[in-house]
Amino acid sequence: NRQVKLIQRPEGEPAPDIFEVAEAPMPEPGEGEFLVKVLYLSVDPAMRGWMNAGRSYIEPVELGDVMRAGAIGRVISSRNSAFSEGDYVSGMFGVQHYAVSDGKGVHTVDPSIAPLERYLGVLGMPGMTAYFGLLDVGQPKEGDTVLVSGAAGAVGATVGQIAKIKGCTAVGIAGGEDKCNFAREVGFDDVVDYKAEPAGKGIKRACPKGVDVYFDNVGGEILEGALSRLRLNARVVLCGAISQYNNADALVGPRNYMALLVNRARMEGFVVFDYAKRYGEAAREMAQWIQEGKLQAKEHVVHGIDDFQKHLMMLFRGENFGKLVIKVQDD
Ligand code: NDP
Repeated sequence: NRQVKLIQRPEGEPAPDIFEVAEAPMPEPGEGEFLVKVLYLSVDPAMRGWMNAGRSYIEPVELGDVMRAGAIGRVISSRNSAFSEGDYVSGMFGVQHYAVSDGKGVHTVDPSIAPLERYLGVLGMPGMTAYFGLLDVGQPKEGDTVLVSGAAGAVGATVGQIAKIKGCTAVGIAGGEDKCNFAREVGFDDVVDYKAEPAGKGIKRACPKGVDVYFDNVGGEILEGALSRLRLNARVVLCGAISQYNNADALVGPRNYMALLVNRARMEGFVVFDYAKRYGEAAREMAQWIQEGKLQAKEHVVHGIDDFQKHLMMLFRGENFGKLVIKVQDD
């Protein structure tokens, strides 16, 4: 069983030697367990946080353990009555070719409804993040201006499209012409290319009435630019801060956070896993939007786990275009 293990904690950017690619004996499912052939892996910015020691919303990956990852696979043998051979399943199977599971946190997915990799994107964790982050935390109202960073990414592109479905004006922030064009194609009303103009200036131009909801995926200067354009009673959804994840020193907070006070605004963080009980409700609604052509999805598929570190670094360099997934092996 081929595996990628975390063997060192990263300082700053994750270097190649923090991972080890190794062969392990094929795992055997015990009573109540089943064996999964891993087909697709999700590559997520959050992985950077899981590698750090110390307290967070989830335990860190221990040194020597297989790197944690969400995945889609097929059950190839089962001693668990809830999962049968041939079932396609989604779960935290880790960066490896085969995994044994007891079924906790695992659910079946249907490849006749959507391609398997989509269950790691818009129908998976990033889709749930967009849905609950925007609707529950951001509480957009019809006519609101919703500003979204990371707008061509897995979470961001979905947030913009849901904002449009809810009757809002959606403004995206993304790096480069191709990504900005893509954001426009999926329905953003306007886009700021933060690599071509200072984010603050672009936000001012694209949000002439100001910002009612800012959905933040990136932090840093873009967050500052957004805060300085908030409207009265605005909501800032703290989803992520990818520009800060590889800082070797403490991350940098917004210098202008007093904008929250002046505008009686609130900024609220959330963790998608807290919504696990409601994933079904969101997935059904999103699947319907996809069918109606209101919600588009894009995945960026790379191949093989041996280059896991390189694949992961793509996220921090903006080299992924859509939800980044690894195709692990043929079905
Ligand atoms: P994306 O598909 O959006 O990929 C990451 C993108 O971030 C890159 O493509 C790049 O886009 C952008 N980026 C990278 N570095 C920078 C930088 N320095 N400044 C600005 N943009 C940068 O990833 P996801 O959709 O999976 O994740 C988006 C965010 O959501 C992350 O912050 C993640 O941690 C967070 N998240 C939070 C969850 C929660 O429960 N709170 C759950 C899931 C995700 P570009 O080329 O446009 O710069």
